[in-house]
Amino acid sequence: MSDLVSIRQAVEARVEGMASARGDWPCRKGCDDCCHRLAAIPRVSRTEWEGIREALDELSREVAEAARARIRASAEESRPFTCPLLDRDSGTCLIYAARPVECRTYGFYLERDRVLGCERIESVAEEQSGVVWGNHETVAEELRGLGPEAALHEWLVGVG
Ligand code: SF4
Ligand code: SF4
Repeated sequence: MSDLVSIRQAVEARVEGMASARGDWPCRKGCDDCCHRLAAIPRVSRTEWEGIREALDELSREVAEAARARIRASAEESRPFTCPLLDRDSGTCLIYAARPVECRTYGFYLERDRVLGCERIESVAEEQSGVVWGNHETVAEELRGLGPEAALHEWLVGVG
């Protein structure tokens, strides 16, 4: 099992546990506010990028080319970013099964004492003291073990 697969499985188990413990957890399909307000274009390891690249190749040529064009353009944009991998019509992630681990933890993990998430997630944190949040520092350390990270546009130029 690759390290990336095991990281994803651990995150998925935690996320599913948290969401099922509270049936109305705010993060759900079609909720894309956070994908519109990124502080930075996603930075991923080569392993994650290769999965994203393959997922893009499986899309229709037109959709994939538009996404690649947005990735290239993102190099010149400034925060807050809309993720170039977002389908802006449906509010869904174009490469959902290959999305970065950082996207999987968002809404469910703590970075130091701060919840990673939008104001709805901050409300959950304020209202429910019993939630056991994931530790983002641990995941970040595991991701560093996958090798150097780069932004999507950097991988697109360098790896194609
Ligand atoms: S963090 Fe907020 S905006 Fe993002 S999916 Fe969760 S509820 Fe929606
Ligand atoms: S990769 Fe997908 S889930 Fe992550 S920010 Fe972009 S659109 Fe959202």
